[in-house]
Amino acid sequence: MLSSVIQQTFAGSDGLSRADRFISRAVSKNECLAVMIVNVEDVERISATIGHAKTQDFLDEFHTELKFLLREKDAMERISDRKFAVILSGMNNQGLARIAAKRIERLASDVGDKGVFHQNLRANIGVAFYPVHAIQASELMRLAEIASLGSHAGSDAVSFFEEDFADHLLGEWGLEGRLDSALRAGDLKMHFQPKMCLATGSIVGAEALMRWHDPELGPIPPDVFIKLAESTGKIAALTQFAIQNVCMQMNEWKQRMPDIGVAVNITPTTIINGEIVEVLRTATSIWGLQADQITLEVTENALMEYPEESHGVLVELREMGARVSIDDFGTGYSSLAYLKDIPADELKVDRSFVSGMLEDRDDLKIVEHTIQLARSFGLQVVAEGVECGGTMDTLRKLGCDYAQGYHIARPMPGQELEGFIRGFDKDNKRQ
Ligand code: C2E
Ligand code: CA
Ligand code: CA
Repeated sequence: MLSSVIQQTFAGSDGLSRADRFISRAVSKNECLAVMIVNVEDVERISATIGHAKTQDFLDEFHTELKFLLREKDAMERISDRKFAVILSGMNNQGLARIAAKRIERLASDVGDKGVFHQNLRANIGVAFYPVHAIQASELMRLAEIASLGSHAGSDAVSFFEEDFADHLLGEWGLEGRLDSALRAGDLKMHFQPKMCLATGSIVGAEALMRWHDPELGPIPPDVFIKLAESTGKIAALTQFAIQNVCMQMNEWKQRMPDIGVAVNITPTTIINGEIVEVLRTATSIWGLQADQITLEVTENALMEYPEESHGVLVELREMGARVSIDDFGTGYSSLAYLKDIPADELKVDRSFVSGMLEDRDDLKIVEHTIQLARSFGLQVVAEGVECGGTMDTLRKLGCDYAQGYHIARPMPGQELEGFIRGFDKDNKRQ
């Protein structure tokens, strides 16, 4: 029974359409797959030793080398700066998958050994199998993610998904209790990822993203702990923490960066219980902010799940001046009729389409049509997951308003954002 709780708790990460397509192809060929989540460990320590920029170079180098290591029939998706999803085909037993995972583990240590980095590096790898453990990409990644938390805590860098282990995670290690302590002890932090206006080339805002570094387990991915909080009734406390923290930070920026807007993510239950309106009203009034500087990002799926309840709350939020953005757009099944009625200001094209749009014609078409669709409904468009300059140029030509992604910057602590924006605008602002 506990495993079904975990199934909800760790519900899948977003934007997996390419991985899903890949899995559909495997199904048609009756192939077995291994899905791996690869986490580079100790990024904070490395960053403290060799600096943030070099650490990011290292992670990019690892990403490039990992691509070379894979065969044509494999696939890979970069999930965050330090986390990669790898799908290997033809893996019909644990032995084969272990050999492949060990190669990836060695790759991290080889890249770390290079003269420029010279770091003792480790990657931990969680593995789940198709069709044994699950048949959908998002579910397989979720299970591989759970397994990867096991490899972090144990001595072996490679761990395979096991139901018992998943039970362990919630039970013995008490992730739920740890989340409570993290809230109290201040182990939760907000990071900010800059958002650039494509027409002017300047940074106009940022998305706030929560980070949790457990003293023993290391960094816990937001996809995991947000779902845990959602299913254990702690999401209201987390959202309150996020909003208060963001408003406090914006108050600090008020004098020197008065026009910066910040987006905060909210989950379905936070919207439908309606408390968000009061939380936001109180926080903006305490810190003397205008509500229109805050955008609330709600996923397309959340809106589809509770159309009536969310509609009312979104209207209230907009009446008090806040902006509303539809996140992960393209991964759900919105109809045109629904878009016509939705009280929103902005639409975010999901990164699963954006990050590969230069290589995949279907993704490019989806991005192009989404931009046109948004325009025709008077919504602004943000492309997330922009990982290279070519993608940014294409988005500009397609008439996209804003871009966000590793090519511009990764999420960073609030204290670093001001310096980053100053440097970035000096170098990039278009006349
Ligand atoms: P999201 O809202 O779609 O956030 C964007 C995610 O994409 C972030 O992952 C960000 O670090 C990552 N990202 C940004 N640029 C790139 C890129 O160029 N390439 C790639 N591969 N990834 C990029 P992160 O921080 O791991 O967050 C994952 C999800 O967890 C978020 O997805 C959001 O749904 C949830 N989340 C994070 N913080 C919060 C929070 O404070 N509250 C709530 N309710 N959810 C949160
Ligand atoms: Ca978001
Ligand atoms: Ca998103």
